[in-house]
Amino acid sequence: MARPFNFSAGPATMPEAVLRQAAAEMLDWHGCGMGVMEMSHRGREFGEILEQAQADLRALLAIPDHFKVLFSQGGALAHNAMVPLNLAGRHPQRAVDVVVTGAWSQKSAQEARRYADVQVAASGADGGYTAIPDPATWRLRANPAYVHLCSNETIHGVEFHQLPDLAALGCDAPLVIDFSSHVLSRPIDWGRVGLAFGGAQKNIGPAGLTLIIVREDLLGHALPICPSVFDYRVLAEQQSMVNTPPTWAIYVAGLVFQWVAAQREGELTGVAAMEARAIERARLLYEAIDGSQLYVNLVDPACRSRMNVPFFLRGDDGRPLKDPAHPRNAAFLRGAQQRGLLQLKGHKSVGGMRASLYNAMPIEGVQALVDYLREFERSA
Ligand code: PMP
Repeated sequence: MARPFNFSAGPATMPEAVLRQAAAEMLDWHGCGMGVMEMSHRGREFGEILEQAQADLRALLAIPDHFKVLFSQGGALAHNAMVPLNLAGRHPQRAVDVVVTGAWSQKSAQEARRYADVQVAASGADGGYTAIPDPATWRLRANPAYVHLCSNETIHGVEFHQLPDLAALGCDAPLVIDFSSHVLSRPIDWGRVGLAFGGAQKNIGPAGLTLIIVREDLLGHALPICPSVFDYRVLAEQQSMVNTPPTWAIYVAGLVFQWVAAQREGELTGVAAMEARAIERARLLYEAIDGSQLYVNLVDPACRSRMNVPFFLRGDDGRPLKDPAHPRNAAFLRGAQQRGLLQLKGHKSVGGMRASLYNAMPIEGVQALVDYLREFERSA
């Protein structure tokens, strides 16, 4: 039987082939007599899994040799603290500039304030986080320890389609990106990035694994209070094995990396194929929303996320209905559930609806959602 389409923002839908493979290997990985959850993280078997996963991720994202690929724990939120603890010491006054384009970068700025002298270089708060302030207007210092941004804001549905060139903006600092919710959906311009981090539980795999990809010259600046299991230099020296890593999550992430590498879209493979699909999924859904009288997405088309699409149903007065308990929203969600379209309720801070369209969402899922949007509008 076909599975329902799951639009959760994370933990999120997984490629069915990966779930089946993980199920088939649950009791016995490659004939070794143990499931991955049961293996020592220091054994040969898990060593192979870890090495392969890191190598596959490196290949998929074309990560240059002078970057380290680290697997950690704590989720992206823990690394909101670990990034300043590791990098703020690069500047004598721990100057850190943050570009705030939604809830996640706002949280990052707030957390970094515990460890650093944070300046908000630009904020989309006034417009309700529906646009990215023009980089030419950002108030960047000349050489802060780093500049932080969230390259895809999962809650507000705002995505950087191009990363800023800090040097061209007169700022000599590494760029740190939180790429939790769009990693592997597009290539990354590593020439513009010093460190990227993100939780795995959206586009990659189970919760519990956090990725850090960091330029080598940024290692070794940790503040003395930085916990050693989270010191990126120590993690790099010990191949992400300072302590027991999230072995199951790494294994499933590795299966997803292999799945991505095997995907094809015409001539395209891997991340390029993922990007082509992401563009197509987003086009289908935004066109349906923009072409309707009932639905509305408030984000500037120049920075609409391909992965997370927040939208509202309008009330009889034409205004967006934010309250999920409003009878029209409740009826919409009930009907969606009945049609196998799951987890469309918006984030509580924004209200309305949100459809997350990660790599594992087939185009048929978006088509089914669009068909339902039209059907519901006719009946509303
Ligand atoms: N950053 C972004 C962009 C996110 O989407 C999330 C989770 N939704 C987080 C940070 C927090 O991640 P975690 O729950 O793994 O700490």
